[in-house]
Amino acid sequence: MGEYLDKGLHEECGVFGVYRQSDAAHLTYFGLHALQHRGQEGAGIAVADGKTVRCRKGKGLLSDVFGRNDLDGMTGKNAIGHVRYGTAGGGEVENVQPIVSRLANGGALAVAHNGQIANAAELRKELEDKGSIFWGSSDSEIILHLLQGTKGPLIEKIKQACNRLDGAFAFLILTEKNLYAVRDKNGLRPLSLAKQGDGWCVSSESCAFDIVGAHLVRDVRPGEIVKISAAGLESCFYTEETSCNLCAMEYIYFSRPDSVLERQNVHGVRRECGRLLAQEDLDNFFKADIVVGVPDSSLSAAAGYSEAIGLPNEMGLIKNRYVGRTFIQPTQAQRDLGVRLKLSANVPVVRGKRVVLVDDSIVRGTTSKRIVALLRQAGATEVHLRIAAPAIKYPCFYGVDMSTRAELASASLEPDVLAKVLGADSLRFLSVDDLKQACGCQGLCTACFDGSYVTPLYSNKI
Ligand code: SF4
Repeated sequence: MGEYLDKGLHEECGVFGVYRQSDAAHLTYFGLHALQHRGQEGAGIAVADGKTVRCRKGKGLLSDVFGRNDLDGMTGKNAIGHVRYGTAGGGEVENVQPIVSRLANGGALAVAHNGQIANAAELRKELEDKGSIFWGSSDSEIILHLLQGTKGPLIEKIKQACNRLDGAFAFLILTEKNLYAVRDKNGLRPLSLAKQGDGWCVSSESCAFDIVGAHLVRDVRPGEIVKISAAGLESCFYTEETSCNLCAMEYIYFSRPDSVLERQNVHGVRRECGRLLAQEDLDNFFKADIVVGVPDSSLSAAAGYSEAIGLPNEMGLIKNRYVGRTFIQPTQAQRDLGVRLKLSANVPVVRGKRVVLVDDSIVRGTTSKRIVALLRQAGATEVHLRIAAPAIKYPCFYGVDMSTRAELASASLEPDVLAKVLGADSLRFLSVDDLKQACGCQGLCTACFDGSYVTPLYSNKI
């Protein structure tokens, strides 16, 4: 994550679209800018002017792909964009989105997809056997080929295609005249709608609406297909079997604190997670001097923990905001250097103190271990690690690039043992029930914590 520490947790992408806005390409650029934390491997924008769909995309950050004048020629009032972190398919440019194609009837369309199609391998083989030719290896291209292979108006094609897809997806389709927004029937990946004047915006996260002056209206519902055209907004569902199971990691880690998902502000949820996490320590008369949150994604939880337990919330870790991704390299020594470049301990604050270190997750444990060591080297006398989320024990099949089970520290180690491995004096996690209470929404995917997958599981993948 650009904005967060690299823990081995990565979201697969962010999407943004605008309908009936002058300067649609520029607005999409700004919307994607607010979503850059969701993916930094590639970015692209497709614009429609009523007659054709034009696209520009490339590898890297948005600012790498679009120079000062690159958007000037992209005229049109409707646009979609994408920022990519690829879990399925490689990092080659063919996999960068939006992907543009032409339907059999001649109409051009572009697709931007967030999520992971669990039955991608089976569908790809079936489509290739029938003669489909794929340009890249991304599972998102499957959506286009499924649309090509179905009959009827586009809305019917989308319904038929969605009913073939298993897994997590939220995608946008831009045609020459219309914009479609689709969310999977389990509501795993987020997608929100906003109004701006006469026009509409769609985004993976509502934080992107604020930057373009749009106002959040609602989430796209699980299983819903929203069509935005000159006639206005129309809604239908591709199935009646829907339920909301938004990825809990969106609240815990991925989304920006100022986003609102399923009517819950992300900062508010994190703060509540911290507050509930403190409860057991309160009950056990736990003693410490200060609370320190790991910047940036754990600061809200640290604030909640500190308030509830009555200890000062101190800035014991400082993040260097100007470290480029290029400094994070694959070898262990380079990764160690990467953490030191990104984070420093505030020595006068932590020296001689018993520190409660609040973080949002432990994946492999390597980052947590380095941060605990950083605090000890700075003179902390005790470091008690508190994770404002349950222990991650199972892999994700829904678009989050999580380690295999063997690499997940909590899959095999109980908290007491893991605390020793990480060099911490104690370690506690939030319970799944407390997480659900903090999120306050009706449905939540918690599969990576408790193994309760919401779609048929491919057991050979565990
Ligand atoms: S398994 Fe975990 S990371 Fe994957 S969608 Fe569910 S909550 Fe999110």
